[in-house]
Amino acid sequence: MGKEQINALQERGVRVTPQRAHIWRVLVESGEHFTAEEVWKRVRDTLPGLELSTVYRSLEALQAVGLVADSRLPEGPRVFEARTALHPHLVCESCGEISHPEPEIGWRLLEALSTGSGGFEVRELHVVAKGVCPGCAGGRE
Ligand SMILES: [Zn+2]
Ligand SMILES: [Zn+2]
Repeated sequence: MGKEQINALQERGVRVTPQRAHIWRVLVESGEHFTAEEVWKRVRDTLPGLELSTVYRSLEALQAVGLVADSRLPEGPRVFEARTALHPHLVCESCGEISHPEPEIGWRLLEALSTGSGGFEVRELHVVAKGVCPGCAGGRE
């Protein structure tokens, strides 16, 4: 954990415990979507004796200050990531990979909803597109 990241946590009022700092770093550095169990597997070596319930609490503390976002995928697990701006998810039905479209797609969707829903204030939007990723589509040819 660099000084910069610790400052970012403190600026947001997060009590920086070694667990929280390490969990956040794992999410930032991987750039991936992990379940709490997957986060737990990745931090266990560095933080021996850490309980899964502590991982959940840390993720939720980071989420409460906007550093971590969670998404519930249809028929899938709850996944966490170090990314908080609204964004759609693309889920490959073949390999299960979760990826993101261009960031502006999320904003365009939000814009379309805000102008077309009669004053309804959209605060959250969960969009999941299911399909086949380029890797799996290529393998089928
Ligand atoms: Zn995501
Ligand atoms: Zn795939």
